[in-house]
Amino acid sequence: LRRNPGETEFHQAVREVLESIGPVLGKHPEYAESKIIERICEPERQIIFRVPWEDDQGEVHINRGFRVEFNSALGPYKGGLRFHPSVYLGIVKFLGFEQIFKNSLTGLPIGGGKGGSDFDPKGRSQREIMRFCQSFMTELYRHIGEYTDVPAGDIGVGGREVGYLFGQYKRITNRYESGVITGKGLSYGGAQVRTEATGYGCAFFVEEMLKARGTSFDGKRVVVSGSGNVAIYTTEKVQQLGGTVIACSDSSGYVVDEKGIDLDLLKQVKEVERLRVDVYAKRRGGEARFVAGRSIWEVPCEVAMPSATQNELTGRDAETLVRNGCVAVGEGANMPTMPEGIRVFREAGVAFGLGKAANAGGVATSALEMQQNASRDSWSFEFSERRLQEIMRDIHARCLKTADEYGMPGDYVAGANIDGFKRVADAMLSLGLI
Ligand code: NDP
Repeated sequence: LRRNPGETEFHQAVREVLESIGPVLGKHPEYAESKIIERICEPERQIIFRVPWEDDQGEVHINRGFRVEFNSALGPYKGGLRFHPSVYLGIVKFLGFEQIFKNSLTGLPIGGGKGGSDFDPKGRSQREIMRFCQSFMTELYRHIGEYTDVPAGDIGVGGREVGYLFGQYKRITNRYESGVITGKGLSYGGAQVRTEATGYGCAFFVEEMLKARGTSFDGKRVVVSGSGNVAIYTTEKVQQLGGTVIACSDSSGYVVDEKGIDLDLLKQVKEVERLRVDVYAKRRGGEARFVAGRSIWEVPCEVAMPSATQNELTGRDAETLVRNGCVAVGEGANMPTMPEGIRVFREAGVAFGLGKAANAGGVATSALEMQQNASRDSWSFEFSERRLQEIMRDIHARCLKTADEYGMPGDYVAGANIDGFKRVADAMLSLGLI
């Protein structure tokens, strides 16, 4: 805490992992002897840089750029870039820290990192977004590469931004190094299913949790917060699996559509026109209603899938969900549930799929994109989706197995944290004191 003052989200993420791995440390004194915990909490490298850019009126703006290269014991640093005004070092470090264990859990050869900027893309023109991305990459390019650090998207960074970032990287370096960034468009080295992967993966994970309890999505009412990349593709897959997504949101409020979200309309409003969710409600006529400025978790449902941002689901929200009959929670976002919320869910026996496990499908599919780039190959949608589903099933099974092994049956938090930690810790031990 003294070393990282004011980085509250980072402290929260570290605390969650450390609380879970006590039993492992008891069984493996070698981790403590070589100070694995202290080493794993200290990023290998942190880069902070100035991002100057000019808006359409010619006014100059200065933003701050970040890339935290947290841990490369398992492979090149891998993790997204977030553009949001709330971004500061504590957010980037929490995301980078979580990424280490998530990436480990996928079983794929990727280390952990994260980056971004406090730039606010809202209300900016396409040309402003492009200029910002170009300026950002003009510094970032010297730190990344196929074998060193491979960024991707996150909040505020989707296919459009990845295109501008990759374009500038290519221009500066004169290298068509497709594997330097993932989430690319299909016409220039992107992979099938990457756009859908986090949401689809999260739905697959929840399906496994429900199956383990002898039930399924069939006929269940599902609430998905957010209406960005993760929320949209979570909704798509949940609908395909038989659930009814009845609500979604953005930072202005939430929409309830009792008959089920009209996905084509949602995509048109959010992906094509980049408008707010209240527009969705207006265009649905009397079918849907918009509720401004309140918590989406007051909408009764059997499955909750927080897919917007960190700390969006409080202890009180969790109590409301439990009271309303919620049986499963799958975190599409990173650390969306506050610690009191997690406690409420665990005590109530709700199946709780934490982000590290439930949303790992995005980064796993990014690693598959890297594989395809390295072999100059491209796989079909069906094959890629099957791989994603296998990976999510495997993560689910390993969480349960590890939780069992350590005497905490059904505890996905313990299972994911312990399994993710062990693989990284063992690799760090093998690599010596570095
Ligand atoms: P997008 O930018 O596509 O969408 C974010 C959504 O969340 C928007 O609807 C946004 O609403 C809402 N949101 C963001 N910040 C806030 C806030 N402070 N309060 C309320 N609502 C907010 O991002 P993604 O869908 O890509 O990411 C969503 C979450 O999923 C993040 O936690 C991210 O880290 C995580 N994640 C994403 C992965 C990916 O592959 N993209 C992979 C793994 C995890 P508004 O437009 O009003 O801001």
